Amino acid sequence: MSLALFNDLTRKKEPFIPIKEGQVTFYSCGPTVYDYFHVGNSRPFIVFDVLRRWLEHEGYHVTFVQNFTDIDDKMIHRAHKEGITVQELAERFIAEYNKDANALGIRKPDVSPRATEHIPEIIHTIERIIENGHAYVSDGDVYFDIQSWPKYGTLCKQNLEDLEAGARVEPGEKKKDPLDFALWKAEKPGEPSWPSPWGNGRPGWHIECSAMSSKYLGDNIDIHSGGVDLMFPHHENEAAQSEAASGTDKPFVNYWLHNGFLLIDNEKMSKSLGNFLTARAAIEKYPPLALRFFMLSAHYRSPINFTTDALEQSAAGVSRLRNSRSDLNFAAKTRTGKNESFDLKKFQNELDELHTKFSEAMNDDFNTAAAMGILFDVVYLINTTLKENDILPDEFFTLSKNALGEYDSILGVIGPDDSESEHDEESAEIENLIQERTNARKTKDFARSDEIRNMLKARGIVLEDTPQGTKWKREL
Ligand code: AMP
Ligand code: ZN
Repeated sequence: MSLALFNDLTRKKEPFIPIKEGQVTFYSCGPTVYDYFHVGNSRPFIVFDVLRRWLEHEGYHVTFVQNFTDIDDKMIHRAHKEGITVQELAERFIAEYNKDANALGIRKPDVSPRATEHIPEIIHTIERIIENGHAYVSDGDVYFDIQSWPKYGTLCKQNLEDLEAGARVEPGEKKKDPLDFALWKAEKPGEPSWPSPWGNGRPGWHIECSAMSSKYLGDNIDIHSGGVDLMFPHHENEAAQSEAASGTDKPFVNYWLHNGFLLIDNEKMSKSLGNFLTARAAIEKYPPLALRFFMLSAHYRSPINFTTDALEQSAAGVSRLRNSRSDLNFAAKTRTGKNESFDLKKFQNELDELHTKFSEAMNDDFNTAAAMGILFDVVYLINTTLKENDILPDEFFTLSKNALGEYDSILGVIGPDDSESEHDEESAEIENLIQERTNARKTKDFARSDEIRNMLKARGIVLEDTPQGTKWKREL
């Protein structure tokens, strides 16, 4: 089965066919950098990171772009409140975003464009929309002209009449139709502004994604993603702007993907409701991979409920995976050898069957919930094989390590392999201390042996004595 994705444009699961064979252009809406991001925000960052990894695993060359919104009302208010410039605020929270994203195992995008570094491209996009007759200037503002765009509402599946009923004109807006939205906002005192053909001002929110996606990925892109709250108006507006600017009948985006909400007490987690927990606070309390594990345990489109119970269970899940891998690594050092009664072919067939199931799950609209279940089946198979056999051949260890390594390169829930850092200085030092402790125990110097165990414990290294020797692992 090849990859199928649920496309919000058609509300159907469709086979994924890229514009250019073997290549994928992928744009995901990024954070507004006025604060730490919260656990709800981390959902799109994590799930679309996994889709990107899966596409690469399947052999596509993926260009993944995720922007930073570094100018908007929230940025301006927060900067005023803190007594710093909008730019200083953006620098600070871009750095904080990168720290948390890294802890959550989210790979850096190929390009992370910032709106304020693309003002010329934004102005150029607006000029093209005006030239093509779909925007107008009104007293230093520029608005998209909804009445000139009959396709408006295609993505959110609503007709103009219903949308008009919900539209409002904010004080100070000078537009023809309540649904018209700002592409450019005339300068207000005390706000950052840039010169433009329509006077000093700043870009609207939606236009930055149109301008930056077209710069880095072209006018017709494969995948565009974000949370479901972005479908309207943000993505509807992006599509209208981009298609109005390009002036061709090619759609802006072929596959629109939206993740469901992360809920807390059955309400959307959001800054405005005040019911949020920052990802930073969550990962100070729980291992960061527990949060990633939690997000991937559900299908990305389903709503999920955030509870401390669920995070604790996820932390236990990550520990099980890590323990299984460290048991495997330890067994590879202490229990490798010939075993006539072990049926390697059968083991390999079982792993292959699970591999097929894993691929089927990921190809089915990247169903990470099912894929995580299969990862646990693989772990179960490895654990029982280890339990049932004292000695196992080299090939068993190679196959098992490769399987875990491959699945984790996609899901990223097991985390760094301590045994792979065997050659780094810290691991060598730990191995030396364990050796010293073993010698101390042999000479019945239990004071020294306890001292070494406690010293390592204080550094987050836990020891376990087994008949084959002493195992160590890092606590998460
Ligand atoms: P923002 O910084 O508010 O633009 O949000 C960044 C991303 O988080 C967007 O893709 C939003 O759709 C998404 N998002 C915001 N709140 C939630 C939530 N409670 N659950 C899932 N995704 C969310
Ligand atoms: Zn966007």
